[in-house]
Amino acid sequence: MAKLEILTRGTEETIECGRKIGAHLQAPVLVLLSGELGAGKTTLTKGISSGVGAAEEDEVTSPTFTLVHKYERGPRVYHVDLYRITDLHDLETLGLEDVFAGSAVVIVEWPEKLTLRIGWPTIRIHLEHVDEDVRRISIDDPENILLPKLAADPLVAPSTNP
Ligand code: ADP
Ligand code: MG
Repeated sequence: MAKLEILTRGTEETIECGRKIGAHLQAPVLVLLSGELGAGKTTLTKGISSGVGAAEEDEVTSPTFTLVHKYERGPRVYHVDLYRITDLHDLETLGLEDVFAGSAVVIVEWPEKLTLRIGWPTIRIHLEHVDEDVRRISIDDPENILLPKLAADPLVAPSTNP
């Protein structure tokens, strides 16, 4: 089964989890991050971008107002936040064609609002509050492009579901 659940306790553990995910991603890939406000999507993106090698985690901030951030020291990462998108017109003015024009790691928060169909390999990650500092990170990798590599990474210790 191409699914994995990880519990993180604290922001740093989520960033670390993201780093491990990012280290095994190969562009072009679409990473869809779902979960409510404050679930940790942007926090996980800091780690993923750092793991890919595109940015330092501190450089990665929420694109809530600008909607798209690009990081490209080395491999290119686009971080897209569709929270404020209310209609198709907004989405069309975003310039997503540029995002998907080349090969990149594209990370999307609020992917429910992404109405375009992108034919790229896709990983879905859902984040949930378990407690104030605890999050459940559920990775769904139907194409088996990430989890086999992540499972072979000795640094990954799934803290749930032995
Ligand atoms: P989102 O992008 O989903 O709205 P953010 O990543 O911006 O969420 O915010 C998550 C907030 O929760 C941050 O303030 C972070 O420090 C805090 N937090 C506490 N524990 C965790 C954890 N285990 N994982 C991720 N964030 C956590
Ligand atoms: Mg966010």
